[in-house]
Amino acid sequence: MTPPVMAAPPDHPVAAAAERRHGQGRPCVITRRASFSASHRYWLPELSAEQNLARFGACSLDPGHGHNYELIVAMGGGLDADGMVLNLSEVKHAIREQVTAQLDFRCLNQAWPEFDLSSPEGMLPTTEALALAIWRRLAPHLPLMGLRLHETEHLWADVLGDSMEAFLTIRTHFAAAHRLARPELSPEENDAIYGKCARPHGHGHNYLLEVTVRGAIDPRTGMVCDLAALQTLVDQLVVEPFDHTFLNKDVAHFATTVPTAENIALHIADLLSSPIAGLGAALHKVRLQESPNNAAEVFAEVPQLGMKPLALDVLAAA
Ligand SMILES: [Zn+2]
Ligand SMILES: [Zn+2]
Repeated sequence: MTPPVMAAPPDHPVAAAAERRHGQGRPCVITRRASFSASHRYWLPELSAEQNLARFGACSLDPGHGHNYELIVAMGGGLDADGMVLNLSEVKHAIREQVTAQLDFRCLNQAWPEFDLSSPEGMLPTTEALALAIWRRLAPHLPLMGLRLHETEHLWADVLGDSMEAFLTIRTHFAAAHRLARPELSPEENDAIYGKCARPHGHGHNYLLEVTVRGAIDPRTGMVCDLAALQTLVDQLVVEPFDHTFLNKDVAHFATTVPTAENIALHIADLLSSPIAGLGAALHKVRLQESPNNAAEVFAEVPQLGMKPLALDVLAAA
């Protein structure tokens, strides 16, 4: 005979387990993607036409140009009784109401007062300034953990809180050959370690390079650093000397250091760290993708940042 079902007292383990049904209370991070198209123009009224052109290049041209933006929103919290961090329809509604319905097919300089440059508080609508403005508009409605805003597949910004700090990533590529072998070892030993990568005449890859910098957004230019200057640094210090080379022979560092993806990423971080500091930002991360199947990442400043790289990884995996 089965015993009668009786309600357990609230502090009883059975009651506690019942409350945790559907994962209630367990922490989780969710992401939601949204997109919008908008135009913008980089033009500061306190500068002359020549100064605007010199400073912002083609981005200063009248009447502006546009991008297809992609936004990724990371949110975290304990699951509710329905097994969700948040009801997705509420997430969709908040993002549409607060962001995409206001910006889609609009000119950013006019859509939000944050980007009204006739006001002294106005900021240029750069990728990082727009990401921060979106954070401030979504934060009252959603439990944000991080935002990533792609302007193009070669440029995106991350913000992780309501501060002026942002991360800006540029993506570029180069093609190079290499051979993985340690000269002090025999061919058999190198073959055992590096396999086909140790074959005597080398092989090549189309490397994808992502460089992430961290810095404070300038309250007027909306930039963590001069984007054109950052792109020039990466071109001059990495892409130009590495592209279409045999790394072991053409880049001095790899005459004595085996050019694994890890070592190439570390060397790129060493090359870029001080020059990027000279632009007023900090090199945060170098990611080098060697093939669709393998990549190396170097965090240039992890100890100071605690959990932040993990929040960025959530956005990267979305
Ligand atoms: Zn633009
Ligand atoms: Zn290789």
